[in-house]
Order: sequence, then C-alpha cells, then structure tokens
Amino acid sequence: SDTRQSVIDIDSVSKAFGGLQALSNCSLSIPAGSITGLIGPNGSGKTTLFNTITGYERIDSGDIRFQGKSIARATPEKVFRLGIGRTFQLTRIFPKLTVLENMHVAVQRQGKGHLFSSWSAAHEQQKALELLNFVGIAQHKDLPAGNLSYGQRKLLEFAFILIADPQIILLDEPAGGVNPTMILYLADRIRELHQRGLTFLLVEHNMEFVMSLCQRVAVMHRGSIIAQGSPEEVRNNPLVLDAYLGE
Ligand code: ADP
Repeated sequence: SDTRQSVIDIDSVSKAFGGLQALSNCSLSIPAGSITGLIGPNGSGKTTLFNTITGYERIDSGDIRFQGKSIARATPEKVFRLGIGRTFQLTRIFPKLTVLENMHVAVQRQGKGHLFSSWSAAHEQQKALELLNFVGIAQHKDLPAGNLSYGQRKLLEFAFILIADPQIILLDEPAGGVNPTMILYLADRIRELHQRGLTFLLVEHNMEFVMSLCQRVAVMHRGSIIAQGSPEEVRNNPLVLDAYLGE
C-alpha cells in the first residue's frame, strides 16, 4: 500500500486471546483526510483493532504503521504523542476535576505542559478554552466534569484529545448513548475538523450516523476486513449482509 497517502496501515495483523483469534490477518489502510467507518457484528474484533493501533494490546504478528513508521510496539502514551487520538466507549475523564482542570491534565499527558516546555500557562489556558468553546461546553468550565451529562462528557473527551493536535482521531461509538440532538452536533464538529484536515476512524453501531458521515466504510467479520468501499457499495455487498445474518 502507498504509505504516502495513508495515515495508518494495518498490515496482516493477528491477535489471539488464548485460543480465541480476535484478529486474523487483518489489513486496512486509512487514507489521509478520510472519515472511515468501521462496522461489523459484535465480537468481530473492532475494539481489539482499536486497542492494537493505540498500544493497549500487543499484536502477535503483522505490523501497524503510522505515517509509514511501525507503531506495533509503541505504548499508549507514545501513540498519543505521535498524533493518534482516541475516545473510549466509557469516557475517560476525571469526574472530580473541573472541566478546565481536565483539559490541563490533557496538556500534561501530552508532555507539552508549561512545566516541561516553552508553552506558557496562559497559552495553555487559552487553547483549552478555545477547544471547550469549539465543542460547546465552555460555559461549564468550572463545574466538576462528573456533573456533565453523558453527551457532554463525550464532548469533553473530544476536546481533551484535540489539545494534542492529533493527525487522526479514533472514535469508539461516538453516538452510543447520546441523544439525537447531540449526535447531530457531534457529527457537525467531526465534519468541521475533517474540513480542517483531520482524519477519522470510527466504530459505530448507529448505521444512519455511519452512512451519513463516512465516505468509506470497512466491515469486520471474525477478525478480518471482509469488505470496504463507499457506504453504498458496502450496503449492497452480499458478504456484509451474510456477516450480520450469520450472528
Ligand atoms: P467488537 O469490538 O467487534 O465487538 P472485540 O474486539 O471486543 O469485538 O472482541 C473480539 C473477540 O475477542 C471477542 O470474541 C471477544 O470476546 C474477544 N476478546 C476481546 N478482548 C479480549 C480479552 N482481553 N481477553 C479475551 N478475549 C477478548
């Protein structure tokens, strides 16, 4: 595959848990500047694939490259600092810290906190506020993050990731458990970031969300990618229907 045009290349990756083959010669390239949806029945390996890309699980064989360089052995912190942001199904915010303090933690995590570099506290604060404003929760900046609604926590986690200036963002069920108004709002934020050049890979069960947002859809089944293409192509692929009906 042409690594100049893809941000991430997953190359024949396999991963077993005991006797269970969660990923089986799985290959997928994520084109730069795309919004790619990753779908597939429960247990098909989507979360495991996210975990291997982001350093939370070690692969047994194959390779994963980010901008042409292997990240197969990188830790989650290293992957994050390289420019791969990720959200989780269950948001990973700090409920007792305020919304703004959560953003401060994000800066520290990235290693760009003013203690460690030339970033000033003022610059950091300004960027944090800009991002909270962008995701629409700046008015809650001094509230404990635990007081936010579920959808707002997802928006905070989004801002948390954006402070690191990622190249690509992996979203794990962004629309899951979120009300319809918030889903539309979130989709607009994703589109806006996409227009600014960000690449997205998202796992999502809400097909309307996937089909309206993604230019490309990849389908997983039993640890491999069995189909990929435009939403229309994937929708009309008989293999995809079989994969879901085979559940
Ligand atoms: P999906 O996200 O598509 O629902 P997963 O990646 O969560 O699929 O799971 C793929 C398979 O790997 C499932 O059979 C699941 O039970 C198994 N699996 C995932 N993580 C672990 C783990 N940490 N230990 C054992 N089995 C796991």
